[in-house]
Amino acid sequence: MLHMVTDYIPKGKYGRWKYRPMKARYITVHSTQNYTGDAQAHAKALRNGALRAGNSLGYLTWHFTVDDKVVIQHLPLNERGEHADFDGPGNLYSIGIEMCEHRGNNLGFTIDKTARLVAYLMRTENIPLKNVVPHYHWPRRGKTPPNKDCPHFLLDNGKPGRKWQVFLKKVEGYYKAMS
Ligand SMILES: [Zn+2]
Repeated sequence: MLHMVTDYIPKGKYGRWKYRPMKARYITVHSTQNYTGDAQAHAKALRNGALRAGNSLGYLTWHFTVDDKVVIQHLPLNERGEHADFDGPGNLYSIGIEMCEHRGNNLGFTIDKTARLVAYLMRTENIPLKNVVPHYHWPRRGKTPPNKDCPHFLLDNGKPGRKWQVFLKKVEGYYKAMS
């Protein structure tokens, strides 16, 4: 099953220096576009405040990182992250999941574990399948193009298409199996 561990960003510091409560209504799926870091490396970077960013928080943050071995949670589900669209609805209302794509990582396993994680979160947070979206879904104000090609390996020509539908089917299958 899912090997899930918790490694929170320290409360009151770095990407959690400001307490920002959230009630999640969406799940946003990303890929890291980092070809060297596994889930542990991303957890460490978040925990150490290494991911500075030009947003209102000053850091990038998200809720889960998935690789072919483990799922690591970095933020409580009731706290807002900074992974999608600055101060837009993607960050205000969604749980952010990053899929790893470093060399040596089994991408098929990673996608499969992500689908199971999404199904689990749909159950526990009461989120419908139509609110499971790729990062692409959230336009980023001031960026060109506004809609990011993310997660690039689940999009077709930079947009949700057949590959994204296959992923949603997989999520739906796990969701139904959980009832
Ligand atoms: Zn993304």
